[in-house]
Amino acid sequence: MTDPAIDTTVGLTPRQRELVGIAAKLGREKFAPRAFKYDLEASFPFENYADLRDAGFLGLCVPAQYGGLAADYETYCLVAAEIGRHCGATALTFNMHSCAAMWSGALADALDMTDAQRTGHEANRVLHYGRIVGEGKVYAQPFSEGSAAAAGHAPFGTMAKRVDGGWVLNGKKIFASLAGAADYYGVLCTEDKPGAGRRDTLYLAVPKDAPGLSVVGAWDPLGMRATVSRTLLLKDVKVGHDAALMPAGIYHQAAMRWPHMFLTLSPSYMGIAQAAYDFTIAYLRGEIEGLPPVKRRMYPTKQIAVAEMFIKLEQTWALFRRVIDEARVDPPKAARLRCYAAQFTIMENANALCALALRTCGGQAMLRPLPLERLYRDSRCGALMLPWTAELCLDRLGRETLYAPGETDE
Ligand SMILES: Cc1cc2nc3c(=O)[nH]c(=O)nc-3n(C[C@H](O)[C@H](O)[C@H](O)COP(=O)(O)OP(=O)(O)OC[C@H]3O[C@@H](n4cnc5c(N)ncnc54)[C@H](O)[C@@H]3O)c2cc1C
Repeated sequence: MTDPAIDTTVGLTPRQRELVGIAAKLGREKFAPRAFKYDLEASFPFENYADLRDAGFLGLCVPAQYGGLAADYETYCLVAAEIGRHCGATALTFNMHSCAAMWSGALADALDMTDAQRTGHEANRVLHYGRIVGEGKVYAQPFSEGSAAAAGHAPFGTMAKRVDGGWVLNGKKIFASLAGAADYYGVLCTEDKPGAGRRDTLYLAVPKDAPGLSVVGAWDPLGMRATVSRTLLLKDVKVGHDAALMPAGIYHQAAMRWPHMFLTLSPSYMGIAQAAYDFTIAYLRGEIEGLPPVKRRMYPTKQIAVAEMFIKLEQTWALFRRVIDEARVDPPKAARLRCYAAQFTIMENANALCALALRTCGGQAMLRPLPLERLYRDSRCGALMLPWTAELCLDRLGRETLYAPGETDE
């Protein structure tokens, strides 16, 4: 076999290679063949989650001492990109699940906590990780509310009132990926107290069968249909103190000091970008299974288009690989700005590559059940993901390149 033109495993550690290899096998053999049906039905890929569970991947980001696979940030991103290469919606929902463990794990360890907070957090995460690793439970990440909160510009409108033994939650979450499929919903909410602000954000895992929690509304979107991101209503939902995935106030600290936590949405789209290229090469070489072996690679126009795709994809991988290596608490300004640039680039380039792939492969390539039209629709969703939509990345970059923190023109 000749070397692949793009080797997505170059420079990986043996452990990263192993985990990405498992994801590639699952993706190729299981997720990709199922993707058409889940997309068509806009139904949740339960079979894929059974496979992820069997592979131990639900515990991918759970630290080793709790029985997880202990993937660090970079390793998680590489694995998620490989899953996204075969099924974008599975990768995106897997991100929501994995972040519950990553954010309460290695990410939280790097943050400042009092001794009491650290002790309480430790007790809680033993419980959460036990559910994930021991019982195969799945966590969702419903933050969005249709307000400025998910963009980081306002406190969450979902409120949690402190009561004896825990919290009572009231509110509404939109775009809750894994709605009806998750066992726990990691809800971001604001502590209900006078003068509460963004610092008073709580991150609480609500069990799916908690009285007062309901999933409502239809789900028939353009893309990422198998994420089943319906609306959650919370009406006087009671949870214990052990529901906390982070101690009070720590989510806000994480958002301020660990910016790469929000880049974790992008690996799914890195994978989609690679998939659009993979398809184009196979299609132009006449190697798509089930189609007549018609070659289209001899036309100079196709060759130019593939060259453009190659360049765009390599640029995207280069930035992706660089920023996932830089992720850490309190990164320097240049790394934070590069992180916005990477998110923008991955989300925009994924869609641009899918558009180029469609134009290059031609009319027959957009027919279902071929994957290209799904990739195109799925890729369109990336730039809409808060808090770092393409618009907000530009907004932050424009401001932060020109102004130091606190600087004004007054
Ligand atoms: C497939 C899919 C799955 C999703 N899954 C989840 C999930 O699991 N959990 C979750 O919490 N969310 C999820 N989301 C929601 C997503 O992160 C966004 O919250 C959602 O797309 C925003 O939609 P909106 O219309 O409410 O945006 P709005 O808040 O109305 O914003 C519209 C646009 O305006 C811009 N904008 C917003 N605020 C500002 C501002 N302050 N300054 C400048 N520009 C601004 C942004 O570019 C934004 O895209 C999902 C979205 C999709 C498409």
